[in-house]
Amino acid sequence: MPLDEYRRKRDFTRSPEPAGDDRDAAGAGETRYFCVQKHLASHLHYDLRLEHGGVLLSWAVPKGPSLDSRDKRLAMQVEDHPIEYGDFEGVIPDGYGAGVVMLWDYGTWTPESADVDAALRKGDFKFRLDGYKLKGSWALVRTKGYGDSSKPSWLLIKHRDDWSGPIDITEFAPLSVKTPGADLADILAADTPAIWKDNPPAKTGDTGTLFQRIIATALELRERQHADAPTRLMSSARAKAKLEAIDDAPPRRATAKSPTAKKTTKTAAKATAKKTATKRAATTRGR
Ligand code: MN
Repeated sequence: MPLDEYRRKRDFTRSPEPAGDDRDAAGAGETRYFCVQKHLASHLHYDLRLEHGGVLLSWAVPKGPSLDSRDKRLAMQVEDHPIEYGDFEGVIPDGYGAGVVMLWDYGTWTPESADVDAALRKGDFKFRLDGYKLKGSWALVRTKGYGDSSKPSWLLIKHRDDWSGPIDITEFAPLSVKTPGADLADILAADTPAIWKDNPPAKTGDTGTLFQRIIATALELRERQHADAPTRLMSSARAKAKLEAIDDAPPRRATAKSPTAKKTTKTAAKATAKKTATKRAATTRGR
């Protein structure tokens, strides 16, 4: 089964990553999905994934894609991933790939070779991307040796076209396309930023430094959210005061005929005040 290796490496009771369904391949001419996930794990890398044969063919690109056609970026082919993985963004707390995953780009792709499987076997595979950040014509060319890796290594190369140029796209557009404006630290802050405080997935070198920075930023973001909390409490206290004032006020219909009618008016007023309080809290949270 194509996803065996993917599943063998992961414990889905501990990881938020999808286990995936085995599914039929997209037919010729059907739109195929592609994505690039920025993955801070033992090393920062970018995972390029192209839908083919009912799975996402996957390459880990340590330096990320380059729009400069003179750059040849090493791309290590890794195990096929389930289609559902394609919009995953989040925190892998431990185990295989432990770290932060950001959906850095996604869109559709079309093969430029008539027979994709033949092109992959040959190790010379041309395709077009239509994402937010990556567009136009690209090639994956397999290298002779495997280098230091046990996985086949390829080179990811941008063809010269309207979408190529001397832009470091990973620097120019570093953020998530799934959560607008979110950096790795924001993704961690939305989860449990304290998990790696003492034991991050990488401790030394550039990656260790990057982890330290992202964990610190995520904890700071969390603290700031806590600092905002009194504002929320105040507004709910004000709402409560208002609610009590309504309770003390004489019922609008002074001639309420039965205690039930009076009660209904009060309950309705309470409900309205509660709604206002909820709304106000939501607005504060949104800031
Ligand atoms: Mn990865």
